[in-house]
Amino acid sequence: MDAKVRLYVDQPLGAGQAVAVGPEQATYLFAVMRLPVGAGVLLFNGRDGEWLARVVDAGKRRGALLCEAQTRPLLPVPDLWLLFSPVRKERTNFIVEKAVELGVARLMPVTTRFTQSERWRQDKQLAHAIEAAEQCGATSVPQVGEVQPLERALAGWPEGRVLLWADEALAGQASALTGSVAAGAPGAVLVGPEGGFSDDEKALLRGLPFVRPISLGPRILRAETAAVAALVLWQMAAGDWR
Ligand code: SAH
Repeated sequence: MDAKVRLYVDQPLGAGQAVAVGPEQATYLFAVMRLPVGAGVLLFNGRDGEWLARVVDAGKRRGALLCEAQTRPLLPVPDLWLLFSPVRKERTNFIVEKAVELGVARLMPVTTRFTQSERWRQDKQLAHAIEAAEQCGATSVPQVGEVQPLERALAGWPEGRVLLWADEALAGQASALTGSVAAGAPGAVLVGPEGGFSDDEKALLRGLPFVRPISLGPRILRAETAAVAALVLWQMAAGDWR
């Protein structure tokens, strides 16, 4: 493969399809990466799989690519949502990046009683998610939600989606998921902030029929480690790591 660059574009891809390159991507492709006319680029848009395209016009502020052949089919990501509390900036970025690599369909930031940082820039985090998808070979980008209170996310919960709740009170118990998640079924995982969940939140979660509390081993993990661990558990039990 002679393509050095992998790019997400929000345009149709198909044999002979022309793809317009806007100012931002032109700077990246032609100034930063110095791709000449004829160079190969891999493209994906979340719908049509991955395509090899050639540079046909490499201008300063815009350009054009031409799709040649599909290099990978669309690889649908399991229908898994990650609910997490925004933490410090670089740790939140870590959660977004790792969630995309591990495979999620939707990122849902939620605020809880002990959330320290409500800082969540949806546009910036979507850009992070796109970058992670470009690097890890994914053929789609997860939906990136606006931050909302945990109660609201739980109030509108869809039927048939099990929510694995990483409950720090279960630390030390076995973390078997047997019977809680069905392979291929929609799912979600919830991890709390560094301060954990409040008593009210624990009572609320315990009373909901779609919630299954789980342990993530004998040690208390930081929020971002817990997010990674919970996603791995779900992927192995019900997702596309099986
Ligand atoms: N301050 C809390 C820990 C919070 S850890 C305390 O001392 O109890 C941040 C989040 O990671 C928790 O809310 C939980 O969702 C998850 N988590 C961390 N370690 C865990 C474990 N061993 N089992 C289950 N969940 C865990």
